[in-house]
Amino acid sequence: MPSTMQDEPLSLATLLRYASTVHADATVRTWTGTESRVLTYRELGEQAARLAHALTALGIGRGDRVGTFMWNNNEHLIAYCAVPAMGAVLHTINIRLFPEQITYVTDHAADRVVIVDASLIPVFAPVLPTLRTVRHVIVANGDAAALPAPEGVTVHEFDTLLAQYPGTFDFPVLDERSAAAMCYTSGTTGDPKGVVYSHRSNWLHSMQACTTDAMGVRAGDRMLAIVPMFHANAWGLPYAALMAGASLVMPDRFLQPEPLLALMAAEQPSFAAAVPTVWNGVLTAVDAKPQDLTHLRAVVVGGAAVPPQLMRAFEERHGVPIIQAWGMTETSPLGALAWPPAGLDGEAAFAYRITQGRIPAAVQARLVGDDGTELPRDGKAVGELEVRGPWVTASYYSPDAAGIGADAFRDGWLRTGDVGTISADGYLTLVDRAKDIIKSGGEWISSVDLENALMAHPDIAEAAVFGVPDEKWDERPVVAAALRAGVEPDAGALRAFLSDKVAKWQLPERWTFVSEVPKTSVGKFDKKVLRKQYAGDMSPPSARWIWLWHSGVRTRSPAWSTRPTCARRSPS
Ligand code: ADP
Repeated sequence: MPSTMQDEPLSLATLLRYASTVHADATVRTWTGTESRVLTYRELGEQAARLAHALTALGIGRGDRVGTFMWNNNEHLIAYCAVPAMGAVLHTINIRLFPEQITYVTDHAADRVVIVDASLIPVFAPVLPTLRTVRHVIVANGDAAALPAPEGVTVHEFDTLLAQYPGTFDFPVLDERSAAAMCYTSGTTGDPKGVVYSHRSNWLHSMQACTTDAMGVRAGDRMLAIVPMFHANAWGLPYAALMAGASLVMPDRFLQPEPLLALMAAEQPSFAAAVPTVWNGVLTAVDAKPQDLTHLRAVVVGGAAVPPQLMRAFEERHGVPIIQAWGMTETSPLGALAWPPAGLDGEAAFAYRITQGRIPAAVQARLVGDDGTELPRDGKAVGELEVRGPWVTASYYSPDAAGIGADAFRDGWLRTGDVGTISADGYLTLVDRAKDIIKSGGEWISSVDLENALMAHPDIAEAAVFGVPDEKWDERPVVAAALRAGVEPDAGALRAFLSDKVAKWQLPERWTFVSEVPKTSVGKFDKKVLRKQYAGDMSPPSARWIWLWHSGVRTRSPAWSTRPTCARRSPS
């Protein structure tokens, strides 16, 4: 029996229309290093209309891809609104990919126009001549003449271009299942893979983000989006803010702890989101030079496991609760958020808050064992997490039907590559990424558990643990630790510190001390780089900090690649 309900398609144009009229005085504010450039949502609506006219004049029609090569700023938000609303597809290019990967994703998506921030011209200019499908580049926030145009490409200046057009646009009614935006995974293994979001998936995801047990976005909030808009929809913050009438605060390129703190002092955001490495840096800076952060009602931290110590430190020393979230590019990205069950507080609540979170109604999750059978949700059985839902991708973008990454899908479920448990009350606890789990002597060692234990040590600023081949044990863990300023490396003492926190056979015997743990393009620990450095294929970032300690012998090595070969014995 059909329903009597109207079949109104879910469209991102409705979010723009709503925010720019009903919440016309809400703002997006972009930090310049000393103050903010402010755009009201009324002006956002007008600028989005002008950009839609400009793109139409440049030949962009339904389904055409428009790339962005931008920081989080006002102009990026204008593109976030205009491109999907006019029926084109917003492709947020990760500015931190290697040049050949930027070429790959831009060609693969077949971007016709790219909007580039002027400060990124030095990165974009060498890539532009290699791009096969791009015909127009729009330079925002600077001098378009600074970008040399190859044959067949026209370069425009954002404000000059938009100024030619009226501030209203008749946005079309679109099929809610049509493409709105696309984002490529950060390509930690192989080529980046494209995920194409629909109007429907982004709309529903925004509603989820606004719920109280997710980010609780509401009018009057000032949402600081540190998580990049070029990665996984900035975790849904921009569209959720438009839906709720919340204001947005954008850090632009000022992403180091001190400028972020200056931005927070000026703009007093009520909410913020970023990966753990960012908050770790902010914590060190704010501990050194205290500043009131209680304007933050909560910060959402995800993208990698959040060290419990980081959560305690922020809450106890600065009065800011950290809410852990789990998600992926493939899941739009919100998959779970770790608010504790009703009625719990103190340590009982904390035990839930350090999980990866509770899975929401729209996302189904299951655990699958090595033999493909489904495992119980009892908080004990460990298996690969598989998910499905209206904002979970069903495939990777494969224009020539090449079936890219088809092995990531099974019977309509997305195989996440994450390994963990699910409790009966729906909380997900990840043990590790399948590719990062260390298999030693037939047992598993969770790199995340070791990292969390190490990062609870007061001398450690950050610590990454990665597996390396071992003749006797198959694999053993290596610790790459960055120490706080003025601390002398002492692997023996750190190993002793771990000894009552993990099983004896898990205690690492290989250590190195680095000035900073290498990060991926989205700020996570880059274990691929660490493994290569360990194997001697890459130079370590700072050879003078390299120490090694193996089987009880502490050795200073002049360089990583000349590490001593030690007698193998039981890792105990
Ligand atoms: P990439 O795969 O390039 O890192 P994504 O942002 O899509 O890009 O990464 C998703 C992955 O990040 C997840 O599959 C998971 O391994 C990891 N992740 C995300 N959130 C968490 C979390 N709270 N705890 C542990 N791992 C997380």
